[in-house]
Amino acid sequence: MIEEKNNGPENCKNYHPVQEYSHVQEIIDNLPYIIMTLLGALIHLVGLGFTFWGWLAAITFVIYGLAGALWFIVFICPFCHFYGTRTCPCGYGQISAKLVPAKDGTQFMRKFKKHIPVIFPLWFAPLITGALFLFNNYNATMLILYCAFIINSFIILPLVSRIYGCAHCPQKEDCPWMKKK
Ligand code: SF4
Repeated sequence: MIEEKNNGPENCKNYHPVQEYSHVQEIIDNLPYIIMTLLGALIHLVGLGFTFWGWLAAITFVIYGLAGALWFIVFICPFCHFYGTRTCPCGYGQISAKLVPAKDGTQFMRKFKKHIPVIFPLWFAPLITGALFLFNNYNATMLILYCAFIINSFIILPLVSRIYGCAHCPQKEDCPWMKKK
């Protein structure tokens, strides 16, 4: 169902001109999320010993990662002032404009808070299962994967968002992701 049109950046009290991102910059912005998804899948694959269940868990995790990005694109981006523009750091805003109509921009914070928990398990599922794998069957490969996952997902990914992508966002004051930082 089509809701109200996005109000546009000029209606945002915090708006100021922002840069447009190239495709290379969009890929850089997406890299930590891609790496997190692949490391999460590898943790399950290695932890379950390359068995059928290991492959199933790894493939499910990758599909969940893709679905999480799509969820964000469909249910959050249409409310964003960057929807349909090249000023979205990761390129989701342009994909969103091809899939769904713009929605009421004043609802961005509410929609963000409502939908962002859907992708939280991407961070916490490998954290829990990886710890269990290490506890039950410690090995150096799992330890390296586990540490790499933590460093990428809990240090690099937030830093890239905060310093590189969201840092230039004109609506960061209204965004729950940036507001707490
Ligand atoms: S800045 Fe964030 S919410 Fe806005 S269009 Fe891009 S990915 Fe979506």
